[in-house]
Amino acid sequence: MHLLLVEDDQRLARVLRRLLEDDRHVVEHAPDGETALELATATDGIEAVILDIGLPGISGVEVARRLRGEGRELAILMLTARDTVNDRVVGLDAGADDYLVKPFAYEELAARLRALGRRAEQGPRRPDPVLAAGPILLDERTRRVTVDGTPVDLSPREFSLLECLLRHPGQALSRDQLLDQAWPFAVAVTPNAVDAYVHYLRTKLGEAGRWIETVRGVGYRMAGG
Ligand code: CA
Repeated sequence: MHLLLVEDDQRLARVLRRLLEDDRHVVEHAPDGETALELATATDGIEAVILDIGLPGISGVEVARRLRGEGRELAILMLTARDTVNDRVVGLDAGADDYLVKPFAYEELAARLRALGRRAEQGPRRPDPVLAAGPILLDERTRRVTVDGTPVDLSPREFSLLECLLRHPGQALSRDQLLDQAWPFAVAVTPNAVDAYVHYLRTKLGEAGRWIETVRGVGYRMAGG
């Protein structure tokens, strides 16, 4: 999807942008409400807005209200800092289609966007969302993983880790790179966690687990590519 990300927290905006772009979205970023409204007017084809409610200057609620006032056909996903009924009601009243309470897991944001995208059902079809290595298939749309056609039940974290490895076949990824991808919002996670999760992942993949290769002194690599 073509997205407009409105977020004044630069660090969060940077992480979200990278993850969204990895998910093949096209991302415009606005750090405040004024810029958001300008970009929304000046940029053709924006399908959805990820809109932080707490912004300097014009608030997220006001941005949503003005976008709706202009009769724009785009989905609005509001990010709220507090899970208060008031914030939700005000946001939805202003025209948001959905909301997400911070802090959230990236997987949750991705799932909401998929739902909004399905609801809109417009614009070009996304490229094939199936990633593969040998007998391992991962469908990014349905979030299903199979080995030789047999479903494998993975936790969200294991799924993210496998997804990251499959996106870079043949490429050695460091533990830090894998941490950034699969644990984007975690603060107290050490690179050892990557080793633990790779172990779980290999175990669940059974025979196919050997496709995840250990690269000594670096990290891990998905065979192939
Ligand atoms: Ca904010």
